[in-house]
Amino acid sequence: MKRRNFIKNATLSTAGLAVGSTIASCAESNSEEKKTTSTSMASLPLVIATWHVTESTAKAMEVLQAGGNALDAVEQGCMIEEANEKGQSVGKGGLPDRDGNVTLDACIMDKNGNCGAVVYLQNITHAVSVARKVMEDTPHVMLAGEGAKQFAISKGFQPEDLLTDASKAAWEKWKIEAKYKPIINIENHDTIGMLAIDKNGDISGACTTSGLAYKMGGRVGDSPIIGSGLFVDNEIGAAVATGLGEEVVKTVGSFLVVELMRQGKSPQEACEEAISRIVNKPNSDYKNFQVGYIAVNKQGETGSYSIHQWFSMTKFQDGVNEQIQSNYFNKTKE
Ligand code: ASP
Repeated sequence: MKRRNFIKNATLSTAGLAVGSTIASCAESNSEEKKTTSTSMASLPLVIATWHVTESTAKAMEVLQAGGNALDAVEQGCMIEEANEKGQSVGKGGLPDRDGNVTLDACIMDKNGNCGAVVYLQNITHAVSVARKVMEDTPHVMLAGEGAKQFAISKGFQPEDLLTDASKAAWEKWKIEAKYKPIINIENHDTIGMLAIDKNGDISGACTTSGLAYKMGGRVGDSPIIGSGLFVDNEIGAAVATGLGEEVVKTVGSFLVVELMRQGKSPQEACEEAISRIVNKPNSDYKNFQVGYIAVNKQGETGSYSIHQWFSMTKFQDGVNEQIQSNYFNKTKE
């Protein structure tokens, strides 16, 4: 899978967007092409995730096939990428902020609407697991920064240096060449968002990221914000986002996708409508940033859509673990 530089130059005030790229296996149909899609219950269990993360979806499916629930599946699936030092957008090895600090954002949400999140977490690889502990072991939804780190340590997580030699070298190069102007991350994936339906038909989701490469110190994106980066409603379905978090937050994107499904839209139609809310804003600068959504409904139908090309979804269902190229809004050739 060849890496591609998706957008060469994007700015968000002083922060840059880490966007990724992947190669298609087949095109995800848009809503017009999708009219023939069956609405009958899909085969369960199933897992979908943002970008090309077949090892993560394989882990999640292993959990589900062993009778595990969707919550365990999404946590353990995300942990694979968090531990993958080669992935420079999640967990260990994530690209740092402009000051050289790796700071992680993550959240998790279960079938009962319980949720937990960590923001600006440092030195702990498995942010998604800390988010789960916040959900299960505290009366709160979100812990930030040093408090989140101390909480994690109190729960037995080992602090470690998350800045790998490769990410440190990339940061040092960025400092010289970009002169504090942001650049685009050329990765084959970015934020990992994962949604699963277990054998009981119950849905859970998780989202984990190191956020925008070379972001301002203290910056938090959409990924740990329930309703923006992730939303699960076990009656309706679930959605997760990747891309420029600020734009997702402004439209409360994942909640929007789920609510659109509640109103009768398919996951594909809902993802397309959520993207249209972004690109159709007055003076939208969408040509210079990426946002992508994936969604699943209670029937197990799935959808994915992005502003620009090269977003993809990984889907594991019926023994097939495949990368599916997402359809996208901006068809103009730059
Ligand atoms: N959504 C993430 C953020 O804004 C970045 C990404 O998906 O690449 O922090």
